[in-house]
Amino acid sequence: MIVAAVLITLLGLLLGSFAGVIAYRVPRDESPFGGRSHCESCGAVVAARDNVPVLSWLVLRGRCRDCRARIPALYPLTEAALGLGFLASWLTYEDDGAAAVALACTFLFVLAIITLTDLEHRIIPNVVLGPAAIAAIALVALWDTGELGPHLLAAAIAGGALLIVSLAYPRGMGMGDVKLAFVMGLFLGRAVAPALLIGFAAGALYGVALIARHGSEARKRAVPFGPFLAFGGVLALFAGDAMVDWYVDSFFSG
Ligand SMILES: [Zn+2]
Repeated sequence: MIVAAVLITLLGLLLGSFAGVIAYRVPRDESPFGGRSHCESCGAVVAARDNVPVLSWLVLRGRCRDCRARIPALYPLTEAALGLGFLASWLTYEDDGAAAVALACTFLFVLAIITLTDLEHRIIPNVVLGPAAIAAIALVALWDTGELGPHLLAAAIAGGALLIVSLAYPRGMGMGDVKLAFVMGLFLGRAVAPALLIGFAAGALYGVALIARHGSEARKRAVPFGPFLAFGGVLALFAGDAMVDWYVDSFFSG
């Protein structure tokens, strides 16, 4: 039990590191599998001892060993978040079997990559969404073939809902967000509903805060929406079904 918890956390830390590599390389048209990482500033190859998730960043105090250039804190934070997220997935879904745990972990891995690329480049890459969609369908089928239909339906509704919003407000939302909502539906099933609601609420709160702080200037700032959807997705992954049950019980029974 303890061993499994430690192993899944370590796997999350390692895949958090890989998520950072993918998010860094894919927008630059580099292969995520193309050899060792280099320092962005001096080009020095990152040694294995400097590539340990979270720890290396702390030991090096967030700087390159050779040129002392800053390494963004977003990278070790992603590693730590996936370590914790994988552990939480295992604790939450262990009873549902390995496929359910893998589905949750894969979802968090995809959200981590997309959050990084959307924050840094304002893109949600198709080369990430495509394999994510295939993995989601395969893992849902492995977990419970009866869930395949509901998850596909949830994906179609979630993607359709964001498509309508994106057509109404083309400046606020792009096709990347629409495709992300579709993929989130594949992973979450009906729990995608609270995920989208939380994502919209968080995005709206952030928008109000920006306007309060910067006035009308804030309207010109383009804010990526993907990270808000990802935030909603994480909450829905762990509490979405409970939220849907509460909603259904409160309004449609008795
Ligand atoms: Zn360097």
